[in-house]
Amino acid sequence: MRQGQTNATQHIPAPSTRPRWYRAFIVCILPIGRSLRNPFFPERVGGIAHLVYNEAMRALVKTSAQPGLTATDRPDPKPGPADAIIRVTATSLCGTDAHIYNWDPWAHSRVHPPRIIGHEMCGVIVEVGSDVTLVKVGDYVAAESHLTCGHCFQCRTGQAHVCKNYRILGVDHDGSFAEYVALPESVLWKTSPAIPRELACLQEPLGNAVDAALVENLTGQTVLITGCGPTGLFAAAVARTAGAAMIIATDVSAYRLDLAKQVGVDHVLNATTETADRIAAAIREITAGEGVDASLEMSGNPTALHHAFSSVKNGGRVTLFGIPTGPIMFDLANEVIFKGIRVYGITGRRLFKTWYRLTGLFQAGLNIKPIITHTFPLKDFTRGFELINSGQCGKVVLFP
Ligand SMILES: [Zn+2]
Ligand SMILES: [Zn+2]
Repeated sequence: MRQGQTNATQHIPAPSTRPRWYRAFIVCILPIGRSLRNPFFPERVGGIAHLVYNEAMRALVKTSAQPGLTATDRPDPKPGPADAIIRVTATSLCGTDAHIYNWDPWAHSRVHPPRIIGHEMCGVIVEVGSDVTLVKVGDYVAAESHLTCGHCFQCRTGQAHVCKNYRILGVDHDGSFAEYVALPESVLWKTSPAIPRELACLQEPLGNAVDAALVENLTGQTVLITGCGPTGLFAAAVARTAGAAMIIATDVSAYRLDLAKQVGVDHVLNATTETADRIAAAIREITAGEGVDASLEMSGNPTALHHAFSSVKNGGRVTLFGIPTGPIMFDLANEVIFKGIRVYGITGRRLFKTWYRLTGLFQAGLNIKPIITHTFPLKDFTRGFELINSGQCGKVVLFP
């Protein structure tokens, strides 16, 4: 049984008998009532569930198996015993959301409408279930998007990021493109109030970059990043903060290479205006013929993948994060074996080692602000998806 998930009949927009101003009135008046310790207003916000949560909330829903999303009213979520209800204050768009929005073959095979999508988020807890002990009403939290089973081999041996039975927020469980979301307390990450909401909601995708960049130490090393989408840009910022000696980045977009410079990349190479051979030669020249210590392949593009392998020095490491659209041919003997390199596949984040590390990186001055290029109210989501489809953006953040 999935905690906090509504059944299909509840997906019909709830005909509210009260006007929307009524809800605004309740939300405004409650803090006053609580502060006065008025017996009509219980101490815990959880105790006023019947006043707030019988109303409808605004959400972006994949209502049927076709492109697009529908902004509609849905019943407020109710917590299971181990769940918290979070009022979402910021939620960012991810490539996964674009796949679902565009309804490509992956989305068609994976997502079962109706579903509220979205998985990168932060917010404030407004209610907790009866068994919740780790968080409380008022806590500012982000969320790990992988809801893991806790009992498979991987979960029990410290590898929950590759849980065999994981479910994904906004894919298999109603997500964060909504005013409220119900989540198990086990995936919540208490966040410092010093981190503004447009940064706090990015901790989940940032975790991918932290794991990709720091699966091995980068301090004092030369790094190649192939692909400057948001996660590649995050990885560049992480590498910079972690003390990389020099960072080279490639991409097909001048817009994104400019963002790369803004987060501290030393050399940018444009794969649209330069040939593959000239890019390989430029990397050799920049590294005085040595090659880089570490290649982070963040694009999934076959040419970029070969750059990642050909440009790494013997005995170096290659981290693979970008997802190719199909099988790729490469020279295993000369690109991997005889070079004696280490190759890492990165999926998700280490639970919760990456989250702790990210908190430390923020304290160390990690600067990702240039990567947040657009913010919109939730209702303007189509503009966000148009930007993602055009590639003329870094990270797009929505405010419910
Ligand atoms: Zn994501
Ligand atoms: Zn598991």
